[in-house]
Amino acid sequence: MTLHICNSENVLERIEQIAAYYKKEQLDKRELKKITRLLLTNHTPDDPNILQAYNLSPKDIPTGVQCPDCFTIPMTYKGGKWCCLKCNLISKTAHVPSINDYFLIIKPSFTNAEICEFLHIPTIHVGNRIIKSMNLPHTGTFKNRVYHKPKS
Ligand SMILES: [Zn+2]
Repeated sequence: MTLHICNSENVLERIEQIAAYYKKEQLDKRELKKITRLLLTNHTPDDPNILQAYNLSPKDIPTGVQCPDCFTIPMTYKGGKWCCLKCNLISKTAHVPSINDYFLIIKPSFTNAEICEFLHIPTIHVGNRIIKSMNLPHTGTFKNRVYHKPKS
């Protein structure tokens, strides 16, 4: 028996190769459902340590909210909105992707002070308001509160 193995990074490419090779459908609906279930139950979300993988430290990551239009970093926070000094875009939610980036690149949790520093939020008061609007899971109370990356 030949064992066919490929890395998870190559799965999609491998499926396309197989699909191109076998012109006739080989599996019926029931078998396809069975395989689908098997793949989904054995799937583990990819959660790589990006800093380690690229030999970077958190200091190598540019800080500040990124403009969703022209990608300039950082945007400036004024009167409850993020303003891009390059393209003049104004956004109330530009911080959301940057917080997701923080979770993926830096670490899966933060304190108010940490995220204020990372996003260039002027005061911890404003930080509190911005974080609360995201309804993130959190532990601890008041100054010791830690916000966590949502599970999904
Ligand atoms: Zn911009």
